[in-house]
Parts: sequence; C-alpha cells; structure tokens
Amino acid sequence: MTTGEMLYEGKAKKIFLTDKEDEVIQYFKDDATAFNAEKRGTILEKGIVNNKISTRLFQELAKAGIPSHFIQQVSDREMLSRRVQIIPVEVVLRNRATGSIVKRLGLQEGMMIDPPLVEFFYKDDSLGDPLITEDHIRLMKLATPSQVIELRTQALKINTVLLPFFQQRGMLLVDFKLEFGLWNGQIILADEISPDTCRFWDIQTGERMDKDRFRKDLGRIEETYQEVLRRVCN
Ligand code: UDP
Repeated sequence: MTTGEMLYEGKAKKIFLTDKEDEVIQYFKDDATAFNAEKRGTILEKGIVNNKISTRLFQELAKAGIPSHFIQQVSDREMLSRRVQIIPVEVVLRNRATGSIVKRLGLQEGMMIDPPLVEFFYKDDSLGDPLITEDHIRLMKLATPSQVIELRTQALKINTVLLPFFQQRGMLLVDFKLEFGLWNGQIILADEISPDTCRFWDIQTGERMDKDRFRKDLGRIEETYQEVLRRVCN
C-alpha cells in the first residue's frame, strides 16, 4: 500500500488515494471546528487519539456483525478504509437530551431518551447541516426509503453495542453522529467514531469528556481526549 494523491480535505481529516482503487487512507488531523466552522482551533494529538479510538470502536462493531469501511490502522494518524460513496445524511442517535435538540425543542438538559431517538441532518455546510425528515431525504433523493430504514436500524444496533461498551468504562454515551457510505451496493458505516462525533459524560462526576470541552471552552481538552483513549483502548 502506498499513499497517493489527496482526494479530499475535510475539517478534521484528509482522504488519500492508494494504489488500490477501492481503498483510501483517512488521515486524522488535529484541527477542530465547531458551530459550522465559525470556531476553529487545534487540539494537540487529537488526530492520533481519534484514529486509535475509531479503530477500536470499528473493531468492536465488526465483532458484533456491523460492517464498516475500516480495514486497518496503518500509522498513528492513518486508517486504511474501503472507498465508499458517502450518503450526505448525518445520522444522530440520542440517549439523553443535550445540544441542538434542547435548543430546538426546549427539552430539559440531560433528559433520558428511551427508546433512543434517531435524527437525520442534511450534510451541507453551506446550509448549516439542517435537520431533515425521511420525506426530505426521499424528495432530495439522498437515499431510498429502504436505505433510510437501514440507516435507522444500523444506528440503533450500533447504540446497543456502544452503550454498554462505554458504560463498562465509566462513561455515559449521551449522543453520537454517524455517517454511512455505499460500497458494492451495500450501506456500511464510514467516517469516524470519536470524542469529536460523540458526547460522553463521566458516570461518576458528570464531567464532559468530548468536543463540548472545545465548543464551550471548558478547559483540559487534550487531557480529556487522552483519558477517553486510555479508557477505550486499555
Ligand atoms: N455532531 C457531529 N458533527 C456535526 C454535528 C453534530 O459529530 O456536524 C455530533 C455531536 O458531537 C453530538 C451529536 O452529533 O455527539 C449531536 O449533536 P447536536 O445535534 O446536539 O449538535 P451540536 O449541539 O453539536 O450543534
């Protein structure tokens, strides 16, 4: 495997071609953004931490029969992945109310959501990633109705694996965002699963252990990302 030209640069990752046309390298950067990239910064070694955490979580999901684009971690910051066509829908699953749903619906912060809630957002920075319904997804032909069912089913299944995984490590999995891609006509999990894309609250202290430390200037950002890595990978 050799790393070829850059295919795409996103806010937190770069994607490189390889000598195999159906495989790419995801390179994890330290760049952090929030509020539709209005806030920008650097979280030292975040790329390394998120690559290792995502690797562990994709492996855990694979053991539970959930396919993803993950092939293998190839260096501190690089993950070899299947080349997929990303479905431009962010799938958010919530076990507790916080963040945008509290602002949007006036729910009580921290309210339990059981059964978990699945929401869809249109992945388009120029529109600020708006909340969309299944009918919008059909109207805009972002995915077929049966693919939408698949996205929801996979998100719920992923939650049933990750919720106990984090609970065993003293962390409440509050919510998370997933991206899926098409690969050989099949929908598979893609992107990353990390403290950038999930919210974790320490079960003992309630302390925020995710990107909310950056979003809300809570301090001890790097230390917290390292602590999540320690708990996930030990
Ligand atoms: N999220 C993400 N990328 C986004 C928006 C949200 O990874 O562009 C994650 C976020 O970290 C949280 C979950 O999705 O774990 C739900 O986020 P929410 O809708 O509450 O949005 P926010 O409050 O972050 O704007």
